[in-house]
Amino acid sequence: MLIVMKAGATQKDVERVIETIESLGFRPHSMPGAGRTAIGITGNQGSVDPAHFENLPSVADAIRVTKPYKLISKDLRPEKSIVKVGNATIGGAELAIIAGPCAVENAEQVFSVAKAVSKSGAKFFRGGAFKPRTSPYAFQGMGEDGLKILADVREQFGLNIVTEAMDEAGVDLVEKYGDCIQIGARNMQNFSLLKYVGQTRKPVLLKRGLSATLDEFLLAAEYIMAEGNYEVILCERGIRTFAAHARNTMDLSIVPAVQRMSHLPIIVDPSHGTGRNYMVKPMARAGVAVGADGLIIEVHPQPEEALCDGAQALTPIQYLELVRQVTAIYEALSLAEENQIEFNTKEAIVA
Ligand code: PEP
Ligand code: MN
Repeated sequence: MLIVMKAGATQKDVERVIETIESLGFRPHSMPGAGRTAIGITGNQGSVDPAHFENLPSVADAIRVTKPYKLISKDLRPEKSIVKVGNATIGGAELAIIAGPCAVENAEQVFSVAKAVSKSGAKFFRGGAFKPRTSPYAFQGMGEDGLKILADVREQFGLNIVTEAMDEAGVDLVEKYGDCIQIGARNMQNFSLLKYVGQTRKPVLLKRGLSATLDEFLLAAEYIMAEGNYEVILCERGIRTFAAHARNTMDLSIVPAVQRMSHLPIIVDPSHGTGRNYMVKPMARAGVAVGADGLIIEVHPQPEEALCDGAQALTPIQYLELVRQVTAIYEALSLAEENQIEFNTKEAIVA
């Protein structure tokens, strides 16, 4: 059930609805929006009787939700969510660029990339201290020491830190040192981990699972939000298909598909989405053109020596050129949207 408040509802009216939901033993999720506040209800097994709410002050409507998701949905919040990450935002008017190495290897490597990222005007820095590697013998990440290097990057460059946690202990550490908790593709359906990050108050970058459908992806976000953390950013990072010319198949059509159903921002990852250095820039351009709210890009000072994902890493110079190009595309798109022509279909056809 979803309770939609009238435009002029006071805080007291909203609180009355929240108390009613709690008195029924359910959980309220209040989502203030530009035009109205809506309150989602979770924790109910069967349907909730709308009569509990219909006569409360300033309640416009009590709507039954028939879809499997409630909180990610545009029904709850028709306008786009803007997620605050450190001192910047994702999902607003600016294209968000998150860049940095796949893995934190040492301070020198990280700082040389951070310099380029800062110079590019990006506001977010990435780098894994806990790496989910296919082989147990591959470099697993520097752990807490790596997070300390990332915290130094924030200190020196003012960049906001996005970094992966693979388990609960990792979440506690990322909360301490970072600005945004990344949940990797392999953990997209680690439901207990999703619930755990849902209880933190740090934004979460949720990457799409290797073979996740749109519904599975959105329901993973729903897990986080159902715990009370509404600061979720989705990330398309490519899925497994029969195609062997790239590491993954970057599924760009999921961007408009998500935007049709959800208020959550979605970014794309052309680095993991392709796995090939030469494909990163063209697919980043495509990601921006399709309407993504941002990009996450892997950069390494010497890709051939990277301890992780070297084949898809851009050099700092290649990265700066990518930012130049995607910025131009983003600006052209914003301009095109501003100047949108309202076509009367019939007139347009006969003209
Ligand atoms: C990463 O961002 O370095 C990473 C491991 O990504 P994914 O979970 O998408 O594979
Ligand atoms: Mn990587």
